[in-house]
Amino acid sequence: IGQTHGIINSGYHPRMFFKEMWATIGRGHVWQGEIKNVKKDGSFYWVDTTIVPLLNEKNKPTQYISIRSDITDRKEAERMIRDLAYNDQLTQLPNRVSFLRTLYQEVKEAKQIGEKLALVFMNIDRLRYVNDSLGHEAGDYILSIVARRLKEASSGEYTIGRLAGDEFAFSLKSICDVAHAEKITKDIQEILIQPIEISGQSYTLSLSFGIALYPDHAQSEEELMTNAEKALYELKRGGGGGYGTYKPGKSEKTFERILLENELRKSIKLGHFNLDYQPKFDLTSREMTGVEALVRWNHPDLGRIPPDKFIQVAEETKVIIPLGEWIFGEACRQAKTWMEKGCKYRVAVNISAVQLEDEDFLLMVKKVLSKTGVDPKWIQIELTESAFGDRSDMQGTLEDIRALGITVAIDDFGTGYSAFSYIKELPADTLKIDMAFTQDIHKNVESYAIVKAILSIASAVGLNVVAEGIEQEEQIVALQELGCQEGQGYFYSKPISPEECEKFMKK
Ligand code: C2E
Ligand code: MG
Ligand code: MG
Repeated sequence: IGQTHGIINSGYHPRMFFKEMWATIGRGHVWQGEIKNVKKDGSFYWVDTTIVPLLNEKNKPTQYISIRSDITDRKEAERMIRDLAYNDQLTQLPNRVSFLRTLYQEVKEAKQIGEKLALVFMNIDRLRYVNDSLGHEAGDYILSIVARRLKEASSGEYTIGRLAGDEFAFSLKSICDVAHAEKITKDIQEILIQPIEISGQSYTLSLSFGIALYPDHAQSEEELMTNAEKALYELKRGGGGGYGTYKPGKSEKTFERILLENELRKSIKLGHFNLDYQPKFDLTSREMTGVEALVRWNHPDLGRIPPDKFIQVAEETKVIIPLGEWIFGEACRQAKTWMEKGCKYRVAVNISAVQLEDEDFLLMVKKVLSKTGVDPKWIQIELTESAFGDRSDMQGTLEDIRALGITVAIDDFGTGYSAFSYIKELPADTLKIDMAFTQDIHKNVESYAIVKAILSIASAVGLNVVAEGIEQEEQIVALQELGCQEGQGYFYSKPISPEECEKFMKK
């Protein structure tokens, strides 16, 4: 009482705003609008305001009646929706939608003034590993630190965004050439990879950057995004870390891949795949101990295509998921048929790491088991060691698989990454020694020593060992000397049709 409106003026609106309001009501008109005011305690509130002038007989306003309703909640909700739509909540960086918008503008501008623009995709390597081992809070912490450093490094010069999980992007304007973009990226990398402290421990990040330039590598912002992403994944395929620039030649390969992918999909539908089986033997008794299913592609025009020629593409394009489902289903069906005929041999199926990473993998396995009715103890899965990389979360899936009664073999052991540490970490039952060692075990002392080491560790942790690729009697002698019990290879049998395999089993 006794005060003017001045006390609730928040200072948010420019002076013109109120000038215009007074002018309207002064002329005898109704004014309507939204005003941000301040409370006694200093907090703000929004009011939806209607001011009606009361006029005298000369149509001059003598009093004003103001009706207000508090719309603070609605305003806050609006702000949040806008924020959610355009900003990443964790890092407060623009999200994919808003980053793309800005990029669209920047590409347009670059075109107008004839400048080059670089788009850099950035990925934090192995963040998943941090999440798994230290918890999601640690992962989130790293993301927010990286975002903050990126902001600082750019000091408002570059547009930055967080596109997804561990993926960031930034654009660099007025770039001279590829070397220029790479230089800036390298400088940024150095700032970002400073060690991070997490619960008293210091972590050094590994980051991968993929670079693409407008107009050198792309004509639109979408193409620019695609090609920067391609450059990143090309780099990651080679192990990641550092930066890589888009190479135009790579797209032709992709085109071939698309063709191959389509052919693979068609062939799954048309049933152009079959499984051959290669027996495994006890080296001493020379009795058959089991079989391994190996996929064969019978292309109507191209003939029989060996798995070496298509498994990798199937993995990269994820076609391995439906194909692997067919393979697993067919192998289990065959195993069941053999069981019913009294041929009790374990059937091993090769499984790609891509399949194991698929969240529906366990469900697929359970479905096949129940549909075919095969006893899981007769089924084994073979995983290639080189596919493991950092995939520490494979461990959980493997444990689930084993809980079903299926056994796990590590394929091609010794050639992949790391070898021995995996024996301890991965829940497995069997190691298959890669044929690279078997093939010259009888004449190369190093191979002999490696196999010896593999066997002694395997026996210490209770793993069964199978030697792959046995072609000669001398190899068997050497393997037996070292205590290897089981083997597989052309010496015993090549991969053969299920009918031939059945004859073998009955013999
Ligand atoms: P792998 O699982 O290690 O299979 C053994 C490969 O070595 C087979 O080749 C087999 O024919 C060959 N081999 C067996 N004994 C000998 C031998 O004494 N000497 C020589 N030189 N070679 C021998 P294949 O069938 O061409 O398969 C190649 C690879 O393709 C497999 O290696 C496996 O990694 C992959 N693969 C095959 N079938 C499947 C499948 O159904 N699913 C998946 N995901 N991968 C598969
Ligand atoms: Mg295998
Ligand atoms: Mg193998």
